[in-house]
Amino acid sequence: MIKRIIISRGSGTRLPVRGNEKKKKLPTKFDMIFSQRIRRLTPYTPGEQPQDRKYLKLNTNENPYPPSPRIADLLKSFDFERLRLYPDPLCTRLREKLGEKYGVHSNQVFVSNGSDEALSFCFYTFFDSTQGKLLFPAVTYSFYPVYCDFYGIEYEKVPMDASLAIDCDELIKRKDSCGIIFSNPNAPTGTYLSLGGIARLLQNYPRKNAVVIDEAYIDFGGESALPLLKDFSNLLIVRTFSKSMSLAGLRLGFAIGHKDLVDALFRAKDAFNSYPVDTLAQLIGEVALSDDDYYRALTQKIISNRDRFSQELISIGWRVLPSKANFLFIARKGTPGKDVYLRLKEKGILVRHFDGQLTRDFVRVTIGKAEDMDRLFGTLKDLF
Ligand code: PMP
Repeated sequence: MIKRIIISRGSGTRLPVRGNEKKKKLPTKFDMIFSQRIRRLTPYTPGEQPQDRKYLKLNTNENPYPPSPRIADLLKSFDFERLRLYPDPLCTRLREKLGEKYGVHSNQVFVSNGSDEALSFCFYTFFDSTQGKLLFPAVTYSFYPVYCDFYGIEYEKVPMDASLAIDCDELIKRKDSCGIIFSNPNAPTGTYLSLGGIARLLQNYPRKNAVVIDEAYIDFGGESALPLLKDFSNLLIVRTFSKSMSLAGLRLGFAIGHKDLVDALFRAKDAFNSYPVDTLAQLIGEVALSDDDYYRALTQKIISNRDRFSQELISIGWRVLPSKANFLFIARKGTPGKDVYLRLKEKGILVRHFDGQLTRDFVRVTIGKAEDMDRLFGTLKDLF
């Protein structure tokens, strides 16, 4: 499947694969067994899930509130014998529900095992560096370069603007690319590109190349690019149930775009795994989509916790990037992010730091419950 691996360092320095843990090397005694491919891979490191003590976990952008109580009812009444059968490989009912919710036909919806899987299929399906490099912002979701290495896609990291936001002009300037991907709101910065900015980008970018927008955090105050789908058949939007729907443990994501692009994603999926989304995940997803009121209230709470915490931090001299996500990217002048991370960890609070040149001053803090943010604020005030 993978004929060659081209590892491009892009135009800037390569961002470290995110995470606070050291990468494990492959044991050399099995050198002969391992393929060249697996030896060359640098995997993504998910946020740490330490077991040594109980932490206040503000490091992986999980939702602090429980998912819809309707899901508990569903699980209580679920007939376990259904697990005897394979799930629907097309996720027909869930795609219909998603289509209804987002105002598109179900044949424009692809469903995946977490949005990471949808993203991975997008890289495989749309980005081909014989046509040019894949573009993404210098600071964005650090899984993107990992997928590039996995699929042998050359990429270029495009400079950010002075406030560490995505710079559309920089993306538009580059003509010889094979596609664009970014998250909006961006991760780990939380900064947000307006719908107008995205429309301008799409108008000035060749229609023959895909533009994938990863909207994992869009429900926390941003405006989705979904309305642009009718004008731009090269646009694909990737979403998740993990964040605003509080279902990170379920592993459910989806992508919305032109029917032909969605068909191509199914083609990739069916060459890899026919049943990546299990029966329970499909049912739970449907039920979650039926409880808009519950989720609206929950998202509102997170937004208000975020905005209050942000104001408090600014009032004591922290730098806080404007965020429309369920996390904040914050920095204390003169203190590297790693020190903030380590000192908070000692106090039983986990946040995330990043080693890259543009990001090393910051830590990323997931927004928790009001009392979680009070505890973090009090601890930061005492420590720094
Ligand atoms: N996109 C972004 C920007 C993310 O931060 C994450 C979470 N790590 C994902 C996608 C993947 O989320 P999931 O696979 O849980 O849907």
